[in-house]
Amino acid sequence: MKPYAVGVDVGGTTVKIGIFSKAGDLFKKWEIPTRTENNGQEILPDIAASIRETLQDNGLSLEQVEGVGIDVPGAVLDSSVVNRAVNLGWGVVPVSTTLSALIDGVRVEVCNDANAAALGEMWKGGGAGFDNIVMVTLGTGVGGGIILGGRILDGAAGAAGEIGHINVNEHESAPCGCGKCGHLEQYASATGIANIAAKKLAEGKKDSSLKQYDEVTAKEVFDEAKKGDALALEIVEEVTDILGRALGIISCVVDPEAFVIGGGVSKAGQIPRRLVGRAPCWSRRWS
Ligand SMILES: [Zn+2]
Repeated sequence: MKPYAVGVDVGGTTVKIGIFSKAGDLFKKWEIPTRTENNGQEILPDIAASIRETLQDNGLSLEQVEGVGIDVPGAVLDSSVVNRAVNLGWGVVPVSTTLSALIDGVRVEVCNDANAAALGEMWKGGGAGFDNIVMVTLGTGVGGGIILGGRILDGAAGAAGEIGHINVNEHESAPCGCGKCGHLEQYASATGIANIAAKKLAEGKKDSSLKQYDEVTAKEVFDEAKKGDALALEIVEEVTDILGRALGIISCVVDPEAFVIGGGVSKAGQIPRRLVGRAPCWSRRWS
């Protein structure tokens, strides 16, 4: 009997691991640090050792595990080989075969992290009941996963759905993490929102309660916007306008049933309706 599955989420600073029933019920979850030194060559051995140890501590064994699903912040080919994950220091890494060999041949499947989030949301979350969704993760960066007809859209090099790198501002001179300029990630991620706030505060055109913070975070921008701070509201309007326009463009191409928005920024909550300005003309025309 193999009643369990293991899920692994490899991030730039921590690896989150969970033991689940095959129906998706979480049995145990824990974290280990991501050791990115030496081109991240310790990451997979660390994961294997941690899975073994935790299974043993809970009276379980690898023989009871049907498979391991692992997601990484990078492009993935054939659910098996990672084709560059910059934040992990990885170039081309055959993750399935390498990790499987370290855990007694248990089957390992690999997925891009935003794609894994999209599949998870379709199975158990905000996309449940739909076959066609676009997942957008607003965190340190902006990730995207597209599911059409129940299947992830991979693309030729495993890089489909990289929504964060859509150009939304051709006049931007500051570079995106990818090296090019004016990408969605530079505005709609937590980092982007904080950067916009810092820039507007430095310009000093408006007095703002955001001045009380040494380094303004995205959370503080949303918190102050909810209290009615004019500059914070201006930033929220600008950011959501850019995000809305990008999602509108995606919608024309993909025709999804739903957009699912996740990541830390999605916890911002509602801004009271009375504080939000008039919609710009391009959206008002259709309302
Ligand atoms: Zn970019």
